Amino acid sequence: MKTYDPNNIFAKILRGDIPCDKVYEDDHVLAFKDKFPKRAVHVLIVPKKPYTDVRSFGEQGSDAELAAILRAVPKVAEIMGVKQDGFRLIANTDMHGGQEVPHLHFHLIGGEPVGPMVS
Ligand code: 5GP
Repeated sequence: MKTYDPNNIFAKILRGDIPCDKVYEDDHVLAFKDKFPKRAVHVLIVPKKPYTDVRSFGEQGSDAELAAILRAVPKVAEIMGVKQDGFRLIANTDMHGGQEVPHLHFHLIGGEPVGPMVS
């Protein structure tokens, strides 16, 4: 497993070094729109603390942090207008998962049919 790289793009967003289109924020979580959306709605939900992926988050995250991420999901869905019709939540992890940015993020994708889970 990789050690956390503090120069990844989402760390820069969390530090305020580069801007983001914020959707939701609380003590533990920031959610912002994906810069290159794959569907009509595409939001990234990230923990504020430096976890590389869902493995380190699940092992080292506090109960409050773990709960905050899932509590944020329906809030973000409501804000984005996709709570009623549903959406897909994805956490790509490391090489086989196709993860590009090494700061844990959950993709919330919807606003239209998302399509097959794996193509
Ligand atoms: P991954 O492949 O790591 O699961 O997803 C990384 C996501 O980050 C991609 O969907 C990509 O479009 C998005 N992304 C990459 N650079 C930026 C950026 O600078 N700002 C935002 N908001 N999203 C980004």
